[in-house]
Amino acid sequence: MTTEIIESFSELGLSENTLKGLTEMGFTKPSPIQAQGIPAVMGGSDVIGQAQTGTGKTAAFGIPVLERIDISNNAVQALVLCPTRELAVQVSEELGRLAKFHRGVRIEAIYGGDSIERQIRSLKKGVHIVVGTPGRVMDHMERRTLKFDEVRMMVLDEADEMLDMGFREDIESILADMPEDRQTILFSATMSKPIMSITKRFLNDPVLIKVVRNELTNQNIEQVCYEVKPQAKLEVMTRLIDMYHLKSLLVFCNTKRKVDEIVEELQLRGYASEGIHGDLRQQQRSNVMSKFKAGVTTILVATDVAARGIDVSGLDGVINFDIPLDEEYYVHRIGRTGRAGMSGKAFSLVARDEKFRLRQIENYTKVKIEKGVIPSYEDIVGVRKARFVESITATIEAGETDLYQDVLEMLQHSGYAIEQIVGAMAKQIMGVQKNEYADSNMSWEEKRGDRGDRRESSDRFDRRRGGSRFDRSEGRGDRFERRSEGGRSGDSRKGGAPEAGMTRLFLSLGRKDHILPKDIVGAIAGESNIPGKTIGAIDIYDKFTFVDVPERDAKAVMRAMDGNTIKGKPVQIDIAKV
Ligand code: ADP
Ligand code: MG
Repeated sequence: MTTEIIESFSELGLSENTLKGLTEMGFTKPSPIQAQGIPAVMGGSDVIGQAQTGTGKTAAFGIPVLERIDISNNAVQALVLCPTRELAVQVSEELGRLAKFHRGVRIEAIYGGDSIERQIRSLKKGVHIVVGTPGRVMDHMERRTLKFDEVRMMVLDEADEMLDMGFREDIESILADMPEDRQTILFSATMSKPIMSITKRFLNDPVLIKVVRNELTNQNIEQVCYEVKPQAKLEVMTRLIDMYHLKSLLVFCNTKRKVDEIVEELQLRGYASEGIHGDLRQQQRSNVMSKFKAGVTTILVATDVAARGIDVSGLDGVINFDIPLDEEYYVHRIGRTGRAGMSGKAFSLVARDEKFRLRQIENYTKVKIEKGVIPSYEDIVGVRKARFVESITATIEAGETDLYQDVLEMLQHSGYAIEQIVGAMAKQIMGVQKNEYADSNMSWEEKRGDRGDRRESSDRFDRRRGGSRFDRSEGRGDRFERRSEGGRSGDSRKGGAPEAGMTRLFLSLGRKDHILPKDIVGAIAGESNIPGKTIGAIDIYDKFTFVDVPERDAKAVMRAMDGNTIKGKPVQIDIAKV
């Protein structure tokens, strides 16, 4: 497309009314997708526009749509399809603002969950631009309450998300029902195969405009990656949240299931967190979003497509719980933070087998992602204490504590010292979580169960980080001394593969947690309902344990035990990598 730089909207040949609206909205300069998209759409050809979230795609199609409405004609002249009710409302509101000085233009948002009778009444009055979700638009088409004979422009907004939500068939039937000579415009943050196939079928010789990547380098985003074992990712994430005091955070992962899992884990640990993905119903989505925007929820966990088009600003950071499968996704994800001159943090938790994807991202973005040091448990407690002291001081300064001043006296009657009393209160209020992972057992630089390498890499690990924070006893050979009970011993299997038909599981508790084989047998048998005698060899190390269980029960045991406790201690469980 054009390479000239367009500095103002007035260079785009727009009407006075539009320019006035833009000034009032505070838009001074077209964004790249607008600078290229507006002339293309105004020119009348079909257009495919690709640009990341938050780059102003709405106005890129909204302005030309407005310019082409004939007010004297009462028929629907433009249809904009959006994936969700929330986006339909957002888009219709933005169009309304752009149309402020276009007297008489009527815009209606049509979406599920809203009274269809009300929608029918306002459609009857005559609407020029319909912004709707595919399901509800189909509904109106079938009832003949929406007629598209005079539609001249058809827009598919956030096409990738619409397809992800399963609207493909609806979209295709709607497109098939539109007048042949209409103009079709498709905007999307990513271009997938299904989108390309829709464009091939329904778009006529489209102009392709692609604006990606360019915003990354000049944005104020601190990008850091942490090399973390998969099962320690959650622990590391919460440490980062605590350490950097992230109060408005978007966490990305690759699957819907993972979203649910992470949300549950975070909630269990006391973080105000909710998830958003394509399987949620409209009502649930709106709920989740309004709580996040209001700050009631501080952590939003999302899949890539679900986060698309959500207009949230003021994020402290973005965490990539999984490394995205597509380099462009990375750009979209981290672009959600550090907007509008504010600084933002983008942390990526990288498992060993994700390392190569991170390299691909570095190649693609031409940015070297710095390697971070996982905050130690002491760091976290220190930070929490400092914040606690701050908040107490602030409360005292705010006054009105008189009513509570006899509490200390009451507590002292219990016979404890002031230090103990305050310590207990601090612990309760700060809610410092249990240290579920030994500092030295979170990074995959160490090879678990691999003696020689382990000690060596453990030393390397220490040196790189200045040493003192890490528990050096971990490197000693004595932790391979095993305890055994009854029939479950046998040096023959030491370090070897589990017996046929057995699966070896890794448990995050060990001798340091005063765990004995009988505790493990008891917990597993009790929680997952498998007979204790079917449990095989148990090897207890300092900070973790290997347990062999029958292959067919491994999943059930993991489900029953993961996040559960043994002797009051939370345990993470995973298939051991042997
Ligand atoms: P997208 O659809 O690409 O995700 P939106 O159209 O929702 O992006 O725009 C994101 C935000 O940027 C909105 O709040 C919008 O009002 C604002 N915006 C769009 N274009 C401009 C512009 N040229 N100048 C300033 N702000 C803009
Ligand atoms: Mg949009």
